[in-house]
Amino acid sequence: MGDKEEYQNKKFSTRIISNSFSKKDVHGAINMPVYRNAAFEFFSSEEIANAFQNKIAAHTYTRISNPTVENFENKIKEASGADMVMAMSSGMAAISNTFFTLAYAGCNIVTSPHLFGNTFSLFKFTLADFGVETRFVDTNNLSEIEAAIDENTCAFFCELVTNPHLEVADLPEISKILKKKHIPMVIDTTVIPWCGFNAREAGVDIEVVSTTKYISGGATSVGGAILDYGTFDWSNNKRLTKVKPTSDMSAFAFKLRREIARNIGAQMDPDTASMQSLGLETLELRFNKMSASAFELSRFLSEQSNVVKVGYPGISSSPYYDLVKKLFRGNPGAMLTLNLESKEACFDFMNKLQIIRRATNLFDNKSLIIHPESTIYGTFSAELKKAMDIDETLLRLSVGLEDVNDLKSDIIRALDIL
Ligand SMILES: *Cc1c(COP(=O)(O)O)cnc(C)c1O
Repeated sequence: MGDKEEYQNKKFSTRIISNSFSKKDVHGAINMPVYRNAAFEFFSSEEIANAFQNKIAAHTYTRISNPTVENFENKIKEASGADMVMAMSSGMAAISNTFFTLAYAGCNIVTSPHLFGNTFSLFKFTLADFGVETRFVDTNNLSEIEAAIDENTCAFFCELVTNPHLEVADLPEISKILKKKHIPMVIDTTVIPWCGFNAREAGVDIEVVSTTKYISGGATSVGGAILDYGTFDWSNNKRLTKVKPTSDMSAFAFKLRREIARNIGAQMDPDTASMQSLGLETLELRFNKMSASAFELSRFLSEQSNVVKVGYPGISSSPYYDLVKKLFRGNPGAMLTLNLESKEACFDFMNKLQIIRRATNLFDNKSLIIHPESTIYGTFSAELKKAMDIDETLLRLSVGLEDVNDLKSDIIRALDIL
């Protein structure tokens, strides 16, 4: 487990599928059993004392750790090459726990205004009440990023492909600035899974991901994960400088595992971990098929006269085409956007679809469509929507595993009626 040489030698799906349990199962179960229990029994008072004092590695209570959840975390280690993985109850739990670990009153976070809605709200409202400032910058403007950083910057944060704007930031270039200034790079990688993006190579220090999306294996459950690549020297963070890990964890991982995550209590439950472990085993297959369909649909939609604009960073007309080649081997995943004439046209089109479902969420096996302005951002004020550049003529489509020709027929039928 975590053996670097083994990680490099075996290919992605093999590493996930062939990963072994940390202890041999007594019955030889081939899938990790679901340990659906809150507490673990010890054979002596000395042993339970040692477990609580971290002198022996043992599960004591499922809010702290659990064998099924640990097995899922180990599979993610195999998938990503991260040093430490902590599974959480949701993507938002991963993001909030990360910032509860890094941030402190008086610090600031440098990020893009183009964020997942709840992440934006976490930064702008929740953390602001605790004295954390968020500095919104254009992540395609390196000098703007550099100028926003000061001695109280606790992290730079952004998403791999922003949603619904579909922007891609040049992470290796941003990483050079952050290294010079001793600022950790925290990236939300939800929209491109590990088979399509090498976080360590791109300079990512901490990764957060909503495993609800690609990983869960068909929207089976809500979950998240925090990954630490062990690449950052935390003595530069004012909050973590005093943390002295007693094990081989980084100061960040130590503070997160031993204090923050236990106190917040947003751990992944064992049933979710079991479903998502199975999801991980088919991740590469699903990602490749969905992305190929998204690419084909983006070209198909571009040819339709009543589609005003198509957004997909994998097509050569996208300003991010070269970056997508550099960071994601040309494959920006299964999310695309389309603009129609008006909000009414968007609503009519959505109402006529018979295969593509009207639902939020991304990267389900089913294709999903949503009108972000009236839903995800529906309760945001007009000013906020303007600050986040939310466009009422835009639809977001997450392409699923249906036959791509059936999806085309569904789209043609719905567009023809406009
Ligand atoms: C869905 C999503 C989240 C939040 O994840 P949950 O599992 O719903 O909490 C965060 N970031 C991005 C980019 C997402 O798509």
